[in-house]
Amino acid sequence: MRCGKTQKIIDEANRQKIAGKKVLVFKPLMDNRFSDNHLIDRNGNEISAVNIENIDEIKKFDADVYLIDEFQFLQGDIKAIQELESKGKKFFIAGLNLTTEKKPFGKMGDILCCADNIQMMTSICEVCKSENATYSYCKIEKTGDILVGGDDIYIPVCNQCYNKLVSGEIKL
Ligand SMILES: [Zn+2]
Repeated sequence: MRCGKTQKIIDEANRQKIAGKKVLVFKPLMDNRFSDNHLIDRNGNEISAVNIENIDEIKKFDADVYLIDEFQFLQGDIKAIQELESKGKKFFIAGLNLTTEKKPFGKMGDILCCADNIQMMTSICEVCKSENATYSYCKIEKTGDILVGGDDIYIPVCNQCYNKLVSGEIKL
């Protein structure tokens, strides 16, 4: 979160378009914080995106390059991606690897195992301002695993600050 992954997806989509590729961008239907059928990054750049709920749905669309943001929220399994990949299709996928409880998020673990190039992105820790915030901390009481939200609910924190927040050593 707040690490620039949506910006990365938009940049890569535009780069692939310049290369003459047929590009499609997907995002989970439940993530409509900013727009229903667009990806919008924090700088206001946007690109149209197809809403899907299940990974399988991408098979209905033909493209050379498939880009998916917020992959952690998608249902289903990664078989559809592997099938398309075996036919020469390219994928760029962004998502949060861990939930706020540090559990593997959705199918992120599966896709990370199959990826041939992984870039771990970090944010600035909201508490100590260090540059290696790799965790999300939820500021409010959660009832389930998934609660879609933005800066009002989640903050990026480093491991040290995460542990201090969870143990109650520091408070926000
Ligand atoms: Zn910190």
